[in-house]
Amino acid sequence: MNTEIIKIDPNNIDVSLIDRAAETIRRGGLVVFPTETVYGLGANTFDPKAVAKVYGAKNRPADNPLISHICSLDQVEELARDVPDMAWKLAERFWGGPLTMILKRRETVPDIVSAGLDTVSIRFPSHSVAYELIGRSGVPIAAPSANLSGSPSPTAARHAIDDMNGRVDVIIDGGDSLIGVESTVVDMTCGVPTVLRPGAVTAEDIASVTGRCVYGGDYANAPKCPGMKYTHYSPRAEVWAVTDMSKAPKDENSVIITYGGGGFDRPAYNAGDTVKDYAAKLFYFLRRADEDGFGTVYARLPEEKGIGIAVRNRLLKAAGGKIL
Ligand code: AMP
Ligand code: MG
Repeated sequence: MNTEIIKIDPNNIDVSLIDRAAETIRRGGLVVFPTETVYGLGANTFDPKAVAKVYGAKNRPADNPLISHICSLDQVEELARDVPDMAWKLAERFWGGPLTMILKRRETVPDIVSAGLDTVSIRFPSHSVAYELIGRSGVPIAAPSANLSGSPSPTAARHAIDDMNGRVDVIIDGGDSLIGVESTVVDMTCGVPTVLRPGAVTAEDIASVTGRCVYGGDYANAPKCPGMKYTHYSPRAEVWAVTDMSKAPKDENSVIITYGGGGFDRPAYNAGDTVKDYAAKLFYFLRRADEDGFGTVYARLPEEKGIGIAVRNRLLKAAGGKIL
């Protein structure tokens, strides 16, 4: 397949370029687009044939459901039914932004979007390019991350192009994703809001609106979300999560990924000063380690608070649970 790559400045959007991509969505094609979390691989939620192509392009297992991306609250009820009051409150507080809510699915949403579950997951991104693309397509866009299944999610256009060139109709290059870890997924169908995947919006943030919120699913191995059993995010290099860098063996072909500075006895990628900078760059550096030919990655394991909870989750997956 011939892939068209379109560069769009998120701060000065050329709508004629967005319209080309929106037309591709409307006629059942695939568009890779930037969001504030990671790059997404999108198709019209209501077109089951287009959604099937998303699974094909990524080699994604059929039992791992997709998130539908919207750009107006009216679209929630095109997708979901019996939406609880708490969900509207969360929408008001955290949308557009990195929060995905699982709600009861309307029959009109094709089975393939939800991998046969009776729920649907919905997110309203804040990224200007995503917002315009969804609006001009006129339909919700079902989109997983734009990586081949099992690889780290792309947070730079170059990495989305590496994985998806030749597999999709259009790739929009809209610069780097600023958050860098995928959205928080919260299940709103089980009474107490339950975080199945940690992200930039924490359980604490959610509880400040809803009163209660617990971690479950991926975190607690509940069977609620079949897709979460898959390992994710691994580069070719062997990855270790490291609590104390002085414990990292000095293998010749290794690189350190960290934040907050420090002197190192080998090559190191430093994400910046804070754990937020680290979140923004972790997937980027995991892919960079492969590009630069490193065989082993020693990556700093951050503290379990704030966005550090999400970073630990992704890093431990990339490391297959290996901690030093
Ligand atoms: P990705 O967009 O590649 O990060 O994948 C979306 C994530 O959301 C996957 O981990 C899915 O398993 C999860 N997800 C999407 N829809 C649902 C749903 N209806 N119920 C539970 N989890 C979901
Ligand atoms: Mg993904």
